Amino acid sequence: MYKAKAYSAASATAPLASTTIQRREPTDRDVQIEILFCGICHSDLHTVRDEWNSVMPTIYPCVPGHEIVGRVTKVGSAVTKFKPGDLAGVGCLVDSDHSCPSCEANLEQFCTNATFTYNSPDKHLGGVTYGGYSDSIVVDEHFVLRVPTNLNLAGVAPLLCAGITTYSPIHRWGDIKGKKVGVVGLGGLGHMGVKFAKAFGAHVVVFTTSPGKKEDALRLGADEVIISTDAEQMKQHAGTFNFILDTIAADHDLNAYIHMLGLEGNITLVGAPDKPLALSSFALLFGRRSVSGSLIGGLAETQEMLDFCGEHNITSDVEIIPIQRVNEAYERLVKSDVKYRFSIDMASLKAE
Ligand code: NAP
Ligand code: ZN
Repeated sequence: MYKAKAYSAASATAPLASTTIQRREPTDRDVQIEILFCGICHSDLHTVRDEWNSVMPTIYPCVPGHEIVGRVTKVGSAVTKFKPGDLAGVGCLVDSDHSCPSCEANLEQFCTNATFTYNSPDKHLGGVTYGGYSDSIVVDEHFVLRVPTNLNLAGVAPLLCAGITTYSPIHRWGDIKGKKVGVVGLGGLGHMGVKFAKAFGAHVVVFTTSPGKKEDALRLGADEVIISTDAEQMKQHAGTFNFILDTIAADHDLNAYIHMLGLEGNITLVGAPDKPLALSSFALLFGRRSVSGSLIGGLAETQEMLDFCGEHNITSDVEIIPIQRVNEAYERLVKSDVKYRFSIDMASLKAE
């Protein structure tokens, strides 16, 4: 074991603060990574504040962070994909059982024995796993991604969660070229959804509650922007969408967006509000519409997404912050005031 610097929360109401954690020495299959940047996902905030208590209670201290990019410092003897000095990424998963039907289908995120990057039982050290708000992490090679070398690293980090979470459902929906696709909520996930839907050739429409984000939405690739609090604008687009990706992190009127769908249109939820959303069956019955959910992506698909980003020069629009400003960043996240992902420059942790 060795010591790593990190930021952790001691309770649901405590601010994140500097700490020291234990990491394992790399085993034969492990890759040790010096973390350079870590994105701040709204899931970090939900977890730190124990907002998902009824589904996944938080164990404290909690070190969040699952949008990790860094440089390999050491590899185990059986590692073949990486060598010291390589760039590497780690997302929401650090282990699974490698043998169940989900793992065999490259859908490790649905393995019932999956180990998430933080707040999951740690098979090696006991206790729970600690995430990327740290200067170092040790991860099984299978869960480490190759990072394209032509991209800005601060903007790559958010691809590891916000990127794959939006790429996967949009890609899975099929050929969206020329189709009308909605993205609800222009935050970390939403702005990546816009970039991917545009890259796949869709006519992209952003639904936002923030009129001040309209210009940015168009710059990011949206063809149209709807201010969702304006009933008249919503009415004009009712029944016209093929597919909508809903990224809202809080309670909202899901049925209002279902009514935007045309015949057999689908709305996929990726946002994870703490409380259940109300669903009107009538909104689904008329038009044979459907509602689905989607959770990150498997490792092969995450690699495919990163390679796609390398080829198309896609990264997240980030505001780089030192780790000392993480609590302030959380307050801004709650107010939907992020353009469009905070990326922590982990060099700032050296000052602690
Ligand atoms: P974020 O950056 O905070 O963005 C969420 C956006 O939702 C906000 O920017 C805002 O956009 C909109 N919004 C927030 N509160 C709202 C409200 N009360 N009513 C309407 N719109 C509201 O969060 P994120 O990191 O993108 O994450 C979004 C959600 O996805 C979180 O719940 C997170 O836990 C979840 N998530 C799920 C997965 C998965 O695998 N399914 C992966 C990562 C994250 P506007 O200002 O444009 O309205
Ligand atoms: Zn996330």
